[in-house]
Amino acid sequence: MNGNRLVGTLTGLAALMLVSSLPATTPGIPQAAPVSASAVADAPGIHRDALLWLTDLVRINTSNPPGSEQLAAKYVAGVLQKEGIKPEILDLALGRSAVVARLRSSVVPDPSKALLLVAHLDTVPVEKTRWTVDPFGAVIKDGYLYGRGAVDDKGMLAANLAVFVGLKRANAHINRDVIFLATADEEGGGDSSIRMLISRYWDKFAAGFAINEGGNVFMKNGKVQYIGVQASEKVAVNVSVVARGTSGHASQPTKDNAVVHLAAAIAKIGSYSSPVHFTAIVRRYFEGIAPLEDDEIAKWIRSMDTPDRGEHAQRVVSDFSPLWNAMMRDTVAPTVLSAGVANNVIPAEARANLNVRLLPGDSINTVVNELNKLVNDPAVKLEVQPNAGLAAPQSSLESDFYNVICQVASREFAGAPALPFQSTWLTDSAQLRLHNVQAYGLVPFPLADEDLKRMHGDDERIPLASFDKGVDVLTKIVTEFAVTRY
Ligand SMILES: [Zn+2]
Repeated sequence: MNGNRLVGTLTGLAALMLVSSLPATTPGIPQAAPVSASAVADAPGIHRDALLWLTDLVRINTSNPPGSEQLAAKYVAGVLQKEGIKPEILDLALGRSAVVARLRSSVVPDPSKALLLVAHLDTVPVEKTRWTVDPFGAVIKDGYLYGRGAVDDKGMLAANLAVFVGLKRANAHINRDVIFLATADEEGGGDSSIRMLISRYWDKFAAGFAINEGGNVFMKNGKVQYIGVQASEKVAVNVSVVARGTSGHASQPTKDNAVVHLAAAIAKIGSYSSPVHFTAIVRRYFEGIAPLEDDEIAKWIRSMDTPDRGEHAQRVVSDFSPLWNAMMRDTVAPTVLSAGVANNVIPAEARANLNVRLLPGDSINTVVNELNKLVNDPAVKLEVQPNAGLAAPQSSLESDFYNVICQVASREFAGAPALPFQSTWLTDSAQLRLHNVQAYGLVPFPLADEDLKRMHGDDERIPLASFDKGVDVLTKIVTEFAVTRY
């Protein structure tokens, strides 16, 4: 806790005392200011507690697999209980649970108005030897908190908790139900994921609006360049590449060696680039990003849609940024290879996995047809794997909640523009959108590329100042949307 925060806390407390000392309505005296986030953000001790919760959550290892989210779910439930909120643990599988809690605005709930705060309890695993600190130690060093999940997604989880508890502590008068949901198996997308949660427990968190991870506050050269508010995401499909040949003694090589055929196929697939296709969100994103970039690349971004230079411009922009490349086309990444049983045996089969990311609305069959043409080898077959993702409708860019997110974030980050964002990565929001939730992605912490890259990588960390700022911004977004007065 720093000095400024202390002053903020006292001001907030004073405001609370003032408001509570006034009668509910006094003729001739104007009503209390309709919306102010400060009492919630400054609810006693909330910033100090948020950091404590983040620390504790990082120390509970929820690497997925196996996830084991139940411990973290119980921890979160304990925090809520201490605040006088009644949480519910939602069991999904042995040792795997989610947790939900609700602040009510009225006796009869109106799910279509309700706001859902979503974050996931699990993290990706770590390669421990590549870390310079204990990944589950929540070490604080040089102004950062280090640990798996510090950003993805325990940072957001702790921030959601801070907003939710802050509303309760400030006794905020909410005009819609606010629901806190911590999900499981987000990183695995398996039997304990949001799909299962929706199919078993939908009534407990049905909502019209949601805020979740998925978008980011992008820093460049020490300041916020733009705020990407995720309103749509790409769809993941895995495709197996299977080469078959004749097995035999490695001392007498044959031309139909499955390993050789697979390797040739993967080499061709690796050079494949699918055609560019701008979705409405991506088009708006590029319009917004061009003025923020250097003149040279901005020129190419603006030329991508022109008939004469379009194709060349698309190539320049794709080469400039892997993110931009993936935002405007379907992508195919070979990820896993498997073949062989012994050093001296030619195997009968060799396999690879392709992780395909489709733009919403694009068909996997089109991509597979193109790849088949490219590979052009009867010994190689492509097989689409089950559990392919489903394309969800995009969230509206006209909703009140989207406008509040953009206005508040832009104001809080010194006027940096808020742009609609279509993530190349997956989140729980796709499933929510499929159930008519206007879900938006915004991890509210300002992060530079250097820190964004550590998510799912080594030495994941969050700058303490960004965490604090993010808690504030998220609080302001939620109070502006859901609080009448306090
Ligand atoms: Zn995540």
